Amino acid sequence: MGSNKLSCDLLIIGAGMAGNAAALFAVEHGIDTIQAGQTSEIGFASGLIDLLGVHPAAEGKVLHDPWQGIAQLRQDEPLHPYAKLSNEVIRAALEKILKFFGQNGYPYEAALEKNTLILTPTGTIKPTYAVPHTMAHGARALAAKTPCLLVDFKRLRGFSGRQIVLSLTARWPNLRTTRLRFPEQPEGELYPERMARAMESSEVRAQIIAAIKPHLGDARAVALPAVMGVYHTVQILKELQQGLGVPVFEIPTMLPAVTGLRLQEIFEQHLPAAGVRSLRQQRVLAAVRQGDGRWALTVGDETGAQQVIARAVVLCSGRFFGKGLHADRQGIRETIFNLPVVQPADRAAWHHKDLLHTGGHPINRAGLAVDQQFRPVDGHGRLIHANLFAAGSILAYQDWVRQKCGSGLAIASAYAAVEEVKRSFKFKV
Ligand SMILES: Cc1cc2nc3c(=O)[nH]c(=O)nc-3n(C[C@H](O)[C@H](O)[C@H](O)COP(=O)(O)OP(=O)(O)OC[C@H]3O[C@@H](n4cnc5c(N)ncnc54)[C@H](O)[C@@H]3O)c2cc1C
Repeated sequence: MGSNKLSCDLLIIGAGMAGNAAALFAVEHGIDTIQAGQTSEIGFASGLIDLLGVHPAAEGKVLHDPWQGIAQLRQDEPLHPYAKLSNEVIRAALEKILKFFGQNGYPYEAALEKNTLILTPTGTIKPTYAVPHTMAHGARALAAKTPCLLVDFKRLRGFSGRQIVLSLTARWPNLRTTRLRFPEQPEGELYPERMARAMESSEVRAQIIAAIKPHLGDARAVALPAVMGVYHTVQILKELQQGLGVPVFEIPTMLPAVTGLRLQEIFEQHLPAAGVRSLRQQRVLAAVRQGDGRWALTVGDETGAQQVIARAVVLCSGRFFGKGLHADRQGIRETIFNLPVVQPADRAAWHHKDLLHTGGHPINRAGLAVDQQFRPVDGHGRLIHANLFAAGSILAYQDWVRQKCGSGLAIASAYAAVEEVKRSFKFKV
């Protein structure tokens, strides 16, 4: 181990949506914060911010009003993490994060009181709460059935304009598609990230505008797969709209999508500038609570490790993919602190026999139980450590994939946990 020793008030574990949001909220409070964690699921994500899209999940009931849905969810599932969060906290958290994205060149649109319906890469429609500005016009065009040209690109992997148009024939008869060659297209398959990086060039944009124009016809809007740049989406969208003379919008692509990459880049660039001390691409390898109550954490990678001493920790280490939880023959365990994990009694009960069981698989609701202050508790509801908090998808009693509440829950629980950290610092740890 290296001789380096860092100390801070708060260590945040995780660089997914929850960890990044927690880091932002903490530095906004002036809390001396270190963040450790590797690039996460966020790099794969759609960039949509879901609050609550479906409830009851077993009925697959799509929600138009997420707030009404959350009120009902709190009654139906009193252990769900949203039952520990007031609407004021959820709204404050979302407002802050959306403001952060907007200030850093990637504004979002949200209808605030209702969900927005958005197209998916397969031509289905999904409810979400906040959409990147690049997708915003899509919701309006879909609602108004605006005559629209969907531009597809030859050899773009996992995106088919024809399939989208076919799926939507009844709902959006004025949607038609054309398939063009992407400028400077290399041999083989085309990937969204490569296209998005190419779109950062004004020459490529001019070529795309010129290629689309002859196909416009009576279209009053143009849809593209989500490849409108990584860093300068505002400028790129503006130029395309000016060049084509109609509103332009993106449809999310299959994953890994450039939409997740955009968020990741914003966090990586702007959190350190806001004051977060970042130990990116490093993992917490061990954690010990010292005699004085502070945490001593070993943080590092293959090249070495250092010790971080922290007054408090917010654990946002995700689920199985993020590596916050690990499943093996013995059961499901939390990987850093060995915290108790709420889980089915035995492995046989992890999954239903029916893959598409309407109730969802019990393993997806496994995770950490927390108290009102978002601190992990044991099976009897007893607090484990007063200065250890948890947020994000590692929390138990939620199934974010089916409930369509991934980012919203991650952001709101991170906000609540950081508020509690701040409150706890008024007292001696
Ligand atoms: C494919 C996909 C699509 C999605 N689409 C949407 C969507 O459309 N809408 C929506 O709202 N949400 C979506 N999400 C959900 C969202 O991106 C997040 O997964 C969710 O919000 C949970 O985030 P998290 O930060 O809790 O966990 P994760 O994103 O899993 O992050 C966990 C973090 O913890 C770190 N970590 C784990 N162990 C350690 C350790 N020992 N030391 C240091 N760090 C550690 C990991 O490196 C990672 O950075 C999607 C996610 C995926 C994967």
